[in-house]
Amino acid sequence: MKLCNFFGNGKLAVKVIPLNFGDRSSNLRHIDCEIKRSSRKSLAIHIGHRRVEVRSPLWTSRREIRTFLESNKEWIEQKLREEAQRYRESLRIVHGRKIFYRARERRIVFQEFPRQRIVVTRDEFIIQGPALTPTRAREQVEVFLQEKARRYLPDRARALSRYLRVSRRLKEVKLRKTKTKWGHCTSTGIVQFNWLIMLAPNSIIDYMIAHEICHLVHMDHSADFWALVESVCPDYEYYREWLQAHEHRLWL
Ligand SMILES: [Zn+2]
Repeated sequence: MKLCNFFGNGKLAVKVIPLNFGDRSSNLRHIDCEIKRSSRKSLAIHIGHRRVEVRSPLWTSRREIRTFLESNKEWIEQKLREEAQRYRESLRIVHGRKIFYRARERRIVFQEFPRQRIVVTRDEFIIQGPALTPTRAREQVEVFLQEKARRYLPDRARALSRYLRVSRRLKEVKLRKTKTKWGHCTSTGIVQFNWLIMLAPNSIIDYMIAHEICHLVHMDHSADFWALVESVCPDYEYYREWLQAHEHRLWL
């Protein structure tokens, strides 16, 4: 993280403003807010996990920035709390942590076993194998999800494409883990799904399939597109919101 920056005149500009919050109970008491200057026109605040950044026009004074931050302090604190929550909930394959699998929080359990296997019970997500380490366990979970995806997604996508009479436009179904996307559809008929979606409930998986297959008919997010999605997935708005609210728990 860069904390200072040379301006054209050779002066070193201090680039942080300390922010103090009243909260003694959490680790949210003090955070240095980073200032990023550019040719933009107005001030804006960006919040990450234990990170506050203010984007500012080149010549806005430090005092002005400070006042702006002060007047938005409650909002900043709220956002930092939300980010902390997201961070806590983020998926890490470690014995004792939680995994949000099929809309239910389960405890991850590493269990010594002669062969590799994953057993899911009501409250536990048990990873069995010889000489388990977090790295091996994670690989095992990845293989587990990839296999589930292979068995479910391509057939389901093809069936829906037949139902919508666009099966000839569907050239290929690819499964791939990407950093930011659940699905993708190209104008040449290649539909790509992120196999991490197999952590989600079936209704969410089906919404994702419906979304991408409907792109074979409408390559945009127009009203016609959403009407088509609704025709095959009536509760799509709820599923969309669910995914937005929980997806941070599914990224691995
Ligand atoms: Zn889309």
